Amino acid sequence: MMVEKRAAVTSHKPPYMAEGGTLMLKCFLCGNWIVLHADRNGRPFGFCPACGVHVHFHKQEGLDLLESAVARHLPIVKTSIPSPPD
Ligand SMILES: [Zn+2]
Repeated sequence: MMVEKRAAVTSHKPPYMAEGGTLMLKCFLCGNWIVLHADRNGRPFGFCPACGVHVHFHKQEGLDLLESAVARHLPIVKTSIPSPPD
């Protein structure tokens, strides 16, 4: 009998970089930081470690808005190492 093993989805994906650091997005639901990884197409995605919300940018418009948020230093994004919630 064959047993198939499934690899973890996110752990081996490279980080999604912006301005020299790993890009993180503030969870709209609980406020924790979601570390973004790059999928096989180079598009950012991630899971909220606290509430489990999954974000994935599938369209160019979303990527443009994300880049714009980084460029304008909006408080919903940051580029650094994850910090615990305060
Ligand atoms: Zn959350």
